[in-house]
Amino acid sequence: MNIAKFGFSLFGINTYVVYDPVSKECAIIDPGMITDEERDAMVNFIKKNDLKPVHLINTHLHIDHCIGNGFIQEKYGLGTSAHSADEILGKRLKEQADMFGIPFNPKDIEITTHLKTGDVIRIGNGELKVIHVPGHSPGGIALYDEKDKFIISGDSLFQGSIGRIDLPGGDHAALLKAIRENLFTLPDDVRVYPGHGPETQIGYERRGNPFF
Ligand SMILES: [Zn+2]
Ligand SMILES: [Zn+2]
Repeated sequence: MNIAKFGFSLFGINTYVVYDPVSKECAIIDPGMITDEERDAMVNFIKKNDLKPVHLINTHLHIDHCIGNGFIQEKYGLGTSAHSADEILGKRLKEQADMFGIPFNPKDIEITTHLKTGDVIRIGNGELKVIHVPGHSPGGIALYDEKDKFIISGDSLFQGSIGRIDLPGGDHAALLKAIRENLFTLPDDVRVYPGHGPETQIGYERRGNPFF
């Protein structure tokens, strides 16, 4: 499958669109758009490439990763796919907004499809495998395209870094363990697309990430 990256301004969040170029089905992952301009960028990309959104997926339910859920839900008639361990975060979006001093009152998020390790999300002829990577948040997941060798890591693994663990539900030991056991066991040449910052590769991080 193909992957397109959008950098949106709130916390410099990476929003991804993963699409099957044949069937044109796509998944929108971690929608972080807030301005009209950012919304248009996504809508225009989907229109220009003739894509059909079939999934809205959150790697976790911190506000920067799901502030655009309401817009995508209404625009494309999609429910929210996420891990149930983050359900409580989705119901506390206003609290999260206050915590970060963001002047928004977002609608709470109700998970309609509960994802867990081993689940396979179909996008046309392509597949994303769900891998639970708790620690940054309890319900953090990564989405793995085994065939095309890339993984969307959310806020678990970054280039040369890992996710912060000082937010509610954060657990340093759990995060290290999950990355070691569930991500570093993937092939070296799997490209990693994180929730913030530039891309990296599994082998590069396994050998050089200073947190391990
Ligand atoms: Zn986060
Ligand atoms: Zn984030």
